[in-house]
Amino acid sequence: MGTGTDGEIKRRKLSKAERLQVYDKCNHRCAYCGCDLEYKNMQVDHAQPLRCGGADEMNNMLPACRSCNHYKATLMVEKYREYIEGIPDRLNRDSIPFAVGKRFGVVSENRKHVVFWFEEIGIEVGE
Ligand SMILES: [Zn+2]
Repeated sequence: MGTGTDGEIKRRKLSKAERLQVYDKCNHRCAYCGCDLEYKNMQVDHAQPLRCGGADEMNNMLPACRSCNHYKATLMVEKYREYIEGIPDRLNRDSIPFAVGKRFGVVSENRKHVVFWFEEIGIEVGE
């Protein structure tokens, strides 16, 4: 939202009641990272992006923080997971401070399977 990344694809303007319904889905946390989310900072994410054929409907909408909404952008949920799980690879490849920090033990890699908050709390999306 706001970045125009969905281009010409039409998205419905949500009523306040609908926005609140999205906000209430994940216990007022971001559906992805699980950070506490204030209503005014919530962005409405389409779990399956509109441009990938996702429906502009409530069961495809999740509350997201600005950062998750920005990084997920037009990625499907599984691609977003791969993107996050691949961050250590990209840091190893691109970041000299990360490599130096690892050698000195001031940063460390934490490889793990990423589980999104909405999955932890058992929310079903899309399809
Ligand atoms: Zn988030």
